[in-house]
Amino acid sequence: MSSKGIVYLIGAGPGDRGLITVRGLELLRRAEVVIYDYLANPQLLSEAPEAEHIYVGKAAGRHHTPQEQINSLLLEHAGRGRIVARLKGGDPFIFGRGGEEALCLHQAGIPFEIVPGVTAAFAAAAFAGIPLTHRDYTTSLALATGHEHPAKATSGHDWDALAGIGTLVFYMGVTNLPTIVQELISRGRSPKTPIALVRWASTPRQQTLTATLETVVDEVRKAHFKPPAVIVVGEVVSLRPQLRWFDRRPLFGKSILVTRAADQAGEFSALLEAQGARTVECPTIEMAPPLDWRPLDEAIARLGEIDWTIFTSVNAVRYFFERLGDLGCDARALGRSHICAVGPKTAAALHRHGIRPDLVPDDYKAEGVVEAFGRIEMTGRRVLLPRADRARDVIPDALSARGAIVLAPTLYRNIIPSSLPKGVLEELAGGDIDIVTFTSSSTVENLAAIVGRGRLPALLEKVVVASIGPITSKSCRHLGLRVDIEPQAYTLEALTEAIVAFCGTVGEIE
Ligand code: SAH
Repeated sequence: MSSKGIVYLIGAGPGDRGLITVRGLELLRRAEVVIYDYLANPQLLSEAPEAEHIYVGKAAGRHHTPQEQINSLLLEHAGRGRIVARLKGGDPFIFGRGGEEALCLHQAGIPFEIVPGVTAAFAAAAFAGIPLTHRDYTTSLALATGHEHPAKATSGHDWDALAGIGTLVFYMGVTNLPTIVQELISRGRSPKTPIALVRWASTPRQQTLTATLETVVDEVRKAHFKPPAVIVVGEVVSLRPQLRWFDRRPLFGKSILVTRAADQAGEFSALLEAQGARTVECPTIEMAPPLDWRPLDEAIARLGEIDWTIFTSVNAVRYFFERLGDLGCDARALGRSHICAVGPKTAAALHRHGIRPDLVPDDYKAEGVVEAFGRIEMTGRRVLLPRADRARDVIPDALSARGAIVLAPTLYRNIIPSSLPKGVLEELAGGDIDIVTFTSSSTVENLAAIVGRGRLPALLEKVVVASIGPITSKSCRHLGLRVDIEPQAYTLEALTEAIVAFCGTVGEIE
């Protein structure tokens, strides 16, 4: 056996990808194989993009991979000298069979390390606003399984002891709820004791149901409340109305489609998620290389003669420097050229290449660039404007009119993807998307092109349409859509605020 084979048993936390520990993340990033569960957030896999990903959780109609098989996978991969991250939901040692996996590694003589995680009970408590202990209400806490070892004929719980504990949390207990309630009441726990079920804690799908021991079975049946959930029993549950925060955020419970280009979507998604929304990214623009590199390469070869180079987007900076790199050059190729960046984000992208732009206009649009050049003598000056195909001609026209010689080679093309990302069409058609956002005319036009022009209005009939401004709204209406939300200012922040205002303070699940 190679000396390097090791298994990291890592607690992935309860769902929110931010709830894995720093140590867990470090080790996950080192992994060559990731073996992960149903309850571990699959987004975490993007932290180990090169690793082999092996799913051993539940799938539709199928049960978990049997434990023996998981154990043999661990032995097999680590035995071949690989670094294995065994990513488990919550904490590996709390109702997660992490103990069995570690024992099996110990017996096989395979090194391992165990990284704790935020267990479901603690996440549910924090995200539902239920302190598991509070001096005025309880001094003891127990974590118990609601689903005991199937081979056992009688309960392994000492129900008398459990009933006397201040706060009780049951894992895997939704199906057995009637038994749990009956046992507690028959051991003297008051039927008025508050109880909460918290489902998919810490995720945008979180749902919380509160009741009392005597009403909860009925309430759960009426609400069709499904696992995975933890059950919290005790007086502390009564603090939730004051302490709930996560599901009180204005966009909680709303699913919002973000149609921006993949590399720009993150910023907008983050704004919406900060207000509690679940975002679904659906890029309607993809970047592709130019069909012909020659105009750009020739311009790069003549950079020594260029007086001004203008970058009109972060993408332009990125693709320009990539091409410089492909040609064996670096920032020095820009030599004596002055540099203009359209706005602070583009300027920041240039900073990362060690370049401080000479000119950053106040108004971040093409018109702003033109105005900023108003004070500079342009006659006979050579200007390089590497840009997207089909970009507007505002800058080249205005600068040429003032006597400049403008080169505007294609740096990248904006193309329309041939299909929507997996699952998005189903979510739209199934009514699972509440709001669709359009941040430019091309986002709505391209979405129409992808799903079919005639089909778009019907697909979005019950979906709230949010548009960033009048030009985009006009494109929406032109395609037969009704616009429900349009902010005063033309920014992502203003659009987010307008969506919040539109939704009011909804988000009451109970
Ligand atoms: N090791 C895990 C528990 C695995 S047992 C941990 O420490 O959290 C599986 C049970 O965990 C589920 O039946 C449910 O009771 C609970 N659970 C896991 N993730 C949950 C979540 N996000 N919200 C509510 N319950 C969750």
